[in-house]
Amino acid sequence: MSATAVEQKKLLINNEWRASSSGKMMEVVNPATEEIIAEVAAADTADVDAAVKAARAALDGPWGKMSARERGRLVRKLADRLLERADEIARLETLHNGKPISESRHIEIPAAAECFEYYAGWADKVMGETIPVRGNYLTYTLREPIGVVAAIVPWNFPLLLAAWKVAPALACGNTVILKPASQTPLTALALGEIAIEVGLPPGVLNVVTGPGSKVGQAIVEHPGIDKVAFTGDTSTGKSIMRSAADTLKKITLELGGKSPNIVLADADLEAAIRGATIGIFYGKGEVCAAGSRLLVDRAIKSEFIDKLAARARKMVPGDPLDPKTRFGAISSKKQLETVLKYIEAGRKEGASLVAGGERADIGTGKGYFVQPTVFADVQPEMTIAREEIFGPVLAAIDFADLDEAIAKANDSPYGLAAGVWTRDIKKAHYVARKLQAGTVWINTYNVYDTAAPFGGYKQSGFGREMSAHALEHYTQIKSVWVDLNM
Ligand code: NAD
Repeated sequence: MSATAVEQKKLLINNEWRASSSGKMMEVVNPATEEIIAEVAAADTADVDAAVKAARAALDGPWGKMSARERGRLVRKLADRLLERADEIARLETLHNGKPISESRHIEIPAAAECFEYYAGWADKVMGETIPVRGNYLTYTLREPIGVVAAIVPWNFPLLLAAWKVAPALACGNTVILKPASQTPLTALALGEIAIEVGLPPGVLNVVTGPGSKVGQAIVEHPGIDKVAFTGDTSTGKSIMRSAADTLKKITLELGGKSPNIVLADADLEAAIRGATIGIFYGKGEVCAAGSRLLVDRAIKSEFIDKLAARARKMVPGDPLDPKTRFGAISSKKQLETVLKYIEAGRKEGASLVAGGERADIGTGKGYFVQPTVFADVQPEMTIAREEIFGPVLAAIDFADLDEAIAKANDSPYGLAAGVWTRDIKKAHYVARKLQAGTVWINTYNVYDTAAPFGGYKQSGFGREMSAHALEHYTQIKSVWVDLNM
């Protein structure tokens, strides 16, 4: 496909589609075919300025004056319209990310719509309190929007992770500047179209595409932005925290992980094998909570690893647009190279490769595919046990007893999620309490719901997404004192 034939996409600012001020464009590549599928505007500082102006004007305009219930109705319409356009938007998600269409259509897009539906219901239920203070005063609190919120999201669940931020931000009365990852901007732009279709006033949702180092950085430094909700790499999160210090912006950070999935000897082994497989290979392992460290009891290790490896070998990468495909393309050439580099490190450092380990070809000679990969006999100090790979590579580590399992599980700078498989209810809850992670799954893995909070311990970040807890990050509290003395 030639560059001139591809669709060109502009920035959404103040409900208008605008070219970037520099006129520069970025190519969007389909990772399954290596074709350029679109060109999107590459924004710069002047465009961020324009988006901030529009977002601020909307706070002082109709959006700021709208009743909470009416705001909730509009957020609900975003959910409904997303579902009406689900086929088309799922296809876009698959085209720019490489994930199987079955995942986009039946998991991610419905989950994004559900997130808007959930927070639409909250819009008119965010309340203050009256406080019995000392003296003759009426003292009450107002929960007010923070103001202009920037949502900066990565490429692995482009629309869903945007929804986790945009939905609570809008429900609480903020305005939003959404910055998708450079690799996957198309569904964020589709959300912008939907915002116009359902009648969000100008400036309430702006979508600014462009490289993180430029647009993301300009957002984080901008004095007119009150809060940054970020999901992405831990090193980017650290840099955002440093840059946000100058304007003392509020920030929430959802960062990387190296999540342990612990299998005790008394577990239902068939269920645990399925869970370990879904834990690492769902979403091609490009999942922040992926169960990338399998901790398995030495007593059952060889049977468990043999069966798991056999299962991994049966997962063959395929065309992401084929409804039967369950394992798609790695999201970009750069990410494929990262994954292959880690596989090489696993080999060099002496782990036993028991499944996969190679780049894959789906018969087209094109695309960034890799085999689902399992390493056994991994030692905790090896690179593949310590660093987030963000790909379909499982590092299996064994342990002798429960204390060793917990110690090894917690031996990581990350703390996003964890799993434990056992039939012993006391052990299950004991382990859940001991694990340093924001989410613990018992006899299951990789389940999520908008009503349940999600976020990190340790260097996996801070703040919680989804659930009522996220509302705290999109509102600020004002105390009002009224003198009642006569
Ligand atoms: P990334 O940090 O490179 O990019 C994320 C976003 O930040 C992109 O939009 C990017 O353009 C932007 N960005 C890059 N540099 C920036 C800067 N200096 N200032 C502001 N913005 C900047 O991450 P990625 O490679 O796109 O995503 C993968 C990472 O995201 C993994 O580490 C993964 O674990 C993490 N992740 C975490 C969660 C979670 O909820 N904890 C969910 C999904 C992904």
